[in-house]
Amino acid sequence: MKNNQEYMDTADQCLLHTYNRYPIILEKGEGVYLYDTQKKQYLDFASGIGVQALGYGNRELNDAVKEQVDRLMHTSNLFYNLPVTRAADRAVKAAGMERVFFTNSGTEAIEGAIKAAKKFAYTRDGHTNHTIIAMENSFHGRSMGALSVTGNSHYQEAFAPLLPGVRFAVFNDLDSVKAQIDETTCAILLETVQGEGGIYPAEPGFLQGVKELCRAHDMLLILDEIQCGMGRCGQMFAWQHYGVKPDIMACAKAIGGGVPVGAFFLTEDVAKQSLAPGDHGSTYGGNPLVGAAVDKVFEIFERDQICEHAKKMGLYLEKTLEALVQEFDCVKGRRGLGLMQGLIMDIPVGDVVKAAQEQGLLVITAGKDVVRMLPPLIIERSHVDEMAVKLKAAIKSCM
Ligand SMILES: *Cc1c(COP(=O)(O)O)cnc(C)c1O
Repeated sequence: MKNNQEYMDTADQCLLHTYNRYPIILEKGEGVYLYDTQKKQYLDFASGIGVQALGYGNRELNDAVKEQVDRLMHTSNLFYNLPVTRAADRAVKAAGMERVFFTNSGTEAIEGAIKAAKKFAYTRDGHTNHTIIAMENSFHGRSMGALSVTGNSHYQEAFAPLLPGVRFAVFNDLDSVKAQIDETTCAILLETVQGEGGIYPAEPGFLQGVKELCRAHDMLLILDEIQCGMGRCGQMFAWQHYGVKPDIMACAKAIGGGVPVGAFFLTEDVAKQSLAPGDHGSTYGGNPLVGAAVDKVFEIFERDQICEHAKKMGLYLEKTLEALVQEFDCVKGRRGLGLMQGLIMDIPVGDVVKAAQEQGLLVITAGKDVVRMLPPLIIERSHVDEMAVKLKAAIKSCM
């Protein structure tokens, strides 16, 4: 048996060093709590970066996945399978969009969305010079296409040349979007609420304005709902809060309740004129295993009214965080929507995150100066209160 340090040393020796991990080995989850190998308990306000919307150890979800493991895990997309059919039926209804393609991650959902937008434009005019407008300070994933539309030179620089034909505008600045439009523009891509960049919700007028521009210039609106979707912001998808429907939507993180799966959704109009047999595919994508998980996640969301609960808890979390802004000079403000919230700090956020861990609270960072909270959507008021106690202690220890 190795001890904790030996496990961490082994991991650091074998795993490619692309993350600076915290010195905590998580071993078990129950509800909204996580436990490390030392049996220390953590209140989880990170949910594995927004994945564990239903918390840990959901009996129904776990049973559905286990049963599917024993029945059939994989078939390839050369055949039909029942779980993904059920999952797709629920997913398109929840999204109010007609078509879905399942992927294995968020970045792949973005790749598919980009391809669909390009093919849609190509089908219409036969040109092969289409461009996309994306936003500065955005995050869409790490594969080459998604990286190309991620407006962060720090992530991009070493990997140039990237996908050509990507132009960047400033989030929440409609004029900057207008300035990038020309006859080659086929789509505008943005996160409804920017996550990694520092929890910036789109302003309603901005999102509506972008939609208008898309209509006026025959461009598609692609919304990245990978972090802000699936009830996180108090609606099934954050765009429903704004009443601005995308033509293509990328989803991932919470959609599988912990099983690795993503999806991109299309309206029927876009689907009909874009990706056709042979244009796109995935060996694993939407296999029976993840299908069973997605089907069950949507079933639980609907039956237990998870979005309504998240909306209520989001308001309570907002109020609680506003009180922290009042109480501490070093907490400069709050931004967010629903259960996707950020506290803007003027002390190093890395220190706050570590101090919170010592208090038994998991939060993460976003942007340069934001403590980010993405708790499981099943939290109750008592958990928000417990978070506040722990976070206050953590902040005090950093001052
Ligand atoms: C996490 C994330 C992605 C990338 O998803 P992966 O599953 O890590 O590939 C893309 N866009 C947004 C907004 C995200 O939060």
